[in-house]
Amino acid sequence: MKILLANPRGFCAGVYMAIDVVDQLLDICGDEKVFVFHEIVHNRHVVQRFRDRGVTFVERVEDVPEGSILVFSAHGVSPAVRALAKERNLTAIDATCPLVMKVHAGAIRYAKRGWQILLVGHRDHQEVIGTRGEAPEAIQVVERPEDIPDLVIHDPSKLIYLTQTTLSLDDANVIIRALKAAFPELHEPPSSDICYATTNRQTAVRAIVPEADFVLVVGSRNSSNSVRLTEIATNDGTPSRLIDDASELDSAWFAGVDSVLVTSGASVPEDLVHGVIEALIERFGGEVEQRDVHDERVEFGLPGTLRELMRGRGVDPDTRRIRIDREADTAAWLARKHIPSRTVQVTLRESEGGMP
Ligand code: SF4
Repeated sequence: MKILLANPRGFCAGVYMAIDVVDQLLDICGDEKVFVFHEIVHNRHVVQRFRDRGVTFVERVEDVPEGSILVFSAHGVSPAVRALAKERNLTAIDATCPLVMKVHAGAIRYAKRGWQILLVGHRDHQEVIGTRGEAPEAIQVVERPEDIPDLVIHDPSKLIYLTQTTLSLDDANVIIRALKAAFPELHEPPSSDICYATTNRQTAVRAIVPEADFVLVVGSRNSSNSVRLTEIATNDGTPSRLIDDASELDSAWFAGVDSVLVTSGASVPEDLVHGVIEALIERFGGEVEQRDVHDERVEFGLPGTLRELMRGRGVDPDTRRIRIDREADTAAWLARKHIPSRTVQVTLRESEGGMP
């Protein structure tokens, strides 16, 4: 079997940063308990590994003892959550991804100008709940074109759309086109809100999927960007499965399959992808072809709230770097495991998101 390993895949800069925030806190807090509001990132293994190290995840700020340390997850929170944390005298450490913060800032800016905002995204997703909370009176959520007739618009000339960062580019475009048809004066955000990591992972799958008989996406079911990767395969007519780890593999899926595209969502640790590759090679033999579509170099620094806490505890934040572990390690891992592999650079056609 040929395993086509998509690059980029796995951790994005926002996830590296959010995970590192909790790691650094565990380093400096000693016996003091660390609480995290909601899952730090949407991955079952990441959350369980932190639970095993003593971190408590909560869905209500009221469940955090007064005066404790509370981390806001990468998906961001609403101002109401921030205010409640302040009321309870919590030390709030904000691990919101800067690209989610950018969408919050846009919502605040346009709401202050008296504009209405159509937020394209999934109503129940933590990120959308947080963004909507910035200006609930100005924001209406649009999940699908069928929602458009129910929108209440006061002045179509003061109307803008924003989007959740982890949407499918294709699905978002369908909704945006329908919105523009209904409201021709609709304004666009100055730059796309769908983040670079979501875009790059989707572009890689779209570019490689025509060569694959089957697609495996490693990721949790509540991870929006992971689910979107399986949808790209489905739209291409290629069967796909979303799995948390190798234990969910079913050999029956691979009858008559010669090539499998393997990728992972932005919140998935690379060791889980390694586990899947190892299990496939053990069962079916074959080789790994790493397909390099984009070389990602984005990194975010530690958030200001953590840096301040570190300084208060005598730790110089400038001596702490975010711990990053990229695909070079996969090449070394493949060699150590004696798994035949090679790397192929993929040049995108313009229609696939490549440069003209
Ligand atoms: S997927 Fe995008 S928005 Fe979400 S944490 Fe990663 S970089 Fe940030």
